[in-house]
Amino acid sequence: MLAEARTLAARIRRLKHPEYLRELEIYPEKRLGGDETRALVILKKVFAWSLQKLGNPVPKREWSLRIVDSTVNTPLVRYFPDSAVLEMQRKALETFREADMVVVGIHELIGHHMQESNVLAGGDHGDYYHSARTNTQEGCAMACERSLLTGPLERTGLEWQLFRLLRALEDDGVTTAWAEFPEGHRMPHAYVRQFVKDLPGTAQHYVFMTNDEFCEC
Ligand SMILES: [Zn+2]
Repeated sequence: MLAEARTLAARIRRLKHPEYLRELEIYPEKRLGGDETRALVILKKVFAWSLQKLGNPVPKREWSLRIVDSTVNTPLVRYFPDSAVLEMQRKALETFREADMVVVGIHELIGHHMQESNVLAGGDHGDYYHSARTNTQEGCAMACERSLLTGPLERTGLEWQLFRLLRALEDDGVTTAWAEFPEGHRMPHAYVRQFVKDLPGTAQHYVFMTNDEFCEC
């Protein structure tokens, strides 16, 4: 994974974010600065844009955004299948750039929300819906990132791939890689350390991926 991280970092350094991305109406490098309204505008735009790119699959449920106080003890961003709620900590709104909100929209809404809604709509998959299946859930979200973060969003996609690699390395006990790759610092290191401590092994599902038939990507 360390060799892969070096290759990714080299690719990232050769790419630039566009100053403005017309099709999503975002300034990729601009920080959100805690602006909840702006975050929701970007999420809605990304959701509609991605659905169109995927041939207009019909969402079977509505989603909503919930902003909560910051704490390193829970994930910075997460999706709750039971309530179709995308939860973000204020810390994410403070540190994320507009480009990172695009990743959140694709990962959580096009990946998790669409997949879980399809599972739920399947009716006889009640057990499947609720059981632990982190591998195909994160595999689906990552497949969506890889198919949609292309062209002017390629650098953003690679930065997040590198972030996931650094977290998986941390999970493997390789704690020295983080400092070597600032391009992959998409979440605060304290959250990464807490994540691998609370959910050992989980970070690997974002690197070694599988998928299922409920995924739209
Ligand atoms: Zn996820």
